[in-house]
Amino acid sequence: MKFGGTSIGSAREILRVVDLVKKEPQKKVVVVSAMSGVTDKLNSIANRIANLPSTVVEKEVEKFHSEILAFHSSTVRDVIPNNPRLQDETLNGITELADKLKITLLGVGYLEDLSSKSLDYILSLGERFSVRIVSGALRSNGVNSLHLTGYEAGIITDSCFGCARPLHSKIKDAIPDKLKPLIDSGKTPVVTGYIAADEKGRITTLGRGGSDFTASLLGRYLGASEVQIWTDVDGILTTDPKIIPNAKLISRISYVEAMDLAYFGAKVIHSKMIEPAMVADIPVRIKNTFNPGCGGTLIVSKQEKSDSIVKAVTIAKNVAILNLKGVGMAETPNIAGKVFTLLGDHNINIIMISGSSESNLSFVIKRDNINRAIEVLNSRFTGNGIRDIELVEDVCIITVVGVGMHGTKGIAAKIFETVAEADVNIIMIAQGSSEVNISFMVPENDGEKTLKALHRKFIECG
Ligand code: ASP
Ligand code: MG
Repeated sequence: MKFGGTSIGSAREILRVVDLVKKEPQKKVVVVSAMSGVTDKLNSIANRIANLPSTVVEKEVEKFHSEILAFHSSTVRDVIPNNPRLQDETLNGITELADKLKITLLGVGYLEDLSSKSLDYILSLGERFSVRIVSGALRSNGVNSLHLTGYEAGIITDSCFGCARPLHSKIKDAIPDKLKPLIDSGKTPVVTGYIAADEKGRITTLGRGGSDFTASLLGRYLGASEVQIWTDVDGILTTDPKIIPNAKLISRISYVEAMDLAYFGAKVIHSKMIEPAMVADIPVRIKNTFNPGCGGTLIVSKQEKSDSIVKAVTIAKNVAILNLKGVGMAETPNIAGKVFTLLGDHNINIIMISGSSESNLSFVIKRDNINRAIEVLNSRFTGNGIRDIELVEDVCIITVVGVGMHGTKGIAAKIFETVAEADVNIIMIAQGSSEVNISFMVPENDGEKTLKALHRKFIECG
C-alpha cells in the first residue's frame, strides 16, 4: 500500500491512512512519500542556500530548521496524542533527523557547493521524517509496525544520484531477505518511498515522484498479490479533468496503456512504476485515499479491446522540438546514434523522435533541457555533420492511447481528420510509436482545443 504526499498531508490525513491500513486484511508493506510539499521545500532551500553569501547562511538554515522541525513535530503530537513514551520516541527521531538536515545545509551553504549526492541526502529527509510519523501513528493505534528506509528494505541502486537505477541482481534477494521475516512475524513495515542507497550505502533517490516505483519494486520481489497506489484522485481518467471537467474514470486498463499514459502526461502514477509490476504480472490498483469507496483503476496485463478503441487522450506541455539539419548528416555514419548517446550521457531524455530524412533529424525534449542540449550538440557537431540546430518551443505533445487502435484500420486518419476539423496544424508525428499510442505535436496555444476535440469525438461520442 503506497500513500502519496497528499494522502499524508497532515495529522487528519495520516489518521485516515491508519484506518485504511487497518482495514486491509492481507499481509502488507506500507510505502509513503514525504508529507505534501516537503520534498519541494527541501529542494528549494538546498538550491537557495548554495547561492547565498555565507554571512546569511546560518540565519537562513536556522529558520528552515525550526520550521521543518515544528511542522513534523506538531504532526507527531497530533497523531500520537495518548502515548507519551511513543510520542517522545518519535519526536526524538524527528529531532535527530532535523539536526542532520541542519548540518548538511550548513555545509552546502559554507562551501557554496550542492552536488547531486548532497542534494539526494537532503531530499531523503522528507521520507525519513514521514515514515517515522506514519509508523508511530500505526503503533499508537495498535498496529505492530516499524519504519525502514528503502535501503534497509533491500533497495540497492547504482550511484547515479538524482535518478538512481535499482540493481536487480542484488535486490531480488535483498528485498525478501529483509522484509519477509518481518511480515511473516506479523509486523507491518513502513518503508520510505523514493529513496534508496548505492552499494556503499550512500543515499540515492529514484527520481521525483519515485515512491510509486519503490512500491512496485517491493511488490515484484515480494511476490505481492497486488500493488495499491493510494492517491488524491479516483484513478486514471480519460483526460486531464482540469481542462475537460467531464473526463471519465477508467476502471480497467492494461500495463502498456497505463505506461504510455503516465509517460505522456497523466500524472496519477509514475511511468517507471509499471514495469516491475508488469514483469511479475502483479495487478496495480489505484485508489483514492479521500474516497476509498470508489473502485479506482485496476491496471492488469489483459488488454481489453472490447470497449472503446481510444481509452484516453493526454497533453504534455513544457517540451520543445530540436531539428538538426545538414547534408553532412547523411554522410556521417551513425549520426543519430552519436547524437542520442551524447544527450543520454548528459542525462537529457529524448521524449519523441521523428527522423524525417537523412539530412534532418527531429526530436522532442523537456524545455528545461534546451540550453544544455544545444550546448553539448554545438560543442560536438558544429561543422561536423550538423549545419543548423533549429529550436521550436511553443509546442505540446498530444497522445491518443488505446489498445483497440492496434490493428484497427483508419484510426490514425480519423484522429488527424478530427485535428484538422478543429483547425489545428500538426507539426510533427512520432515515428515508430508504441502499438497502443499515437503521439503528435501541435502549437501550444492549440493544445487544449485539440484535446477537447479528440475527447469529444472518441470518448464522449465514441
Ligand atoms: N517525495 C518525492 C517527490 O515529491 C517522491 C514522491 O512523492 O513519490 O518527488
Ligand atoms: Mg510527492
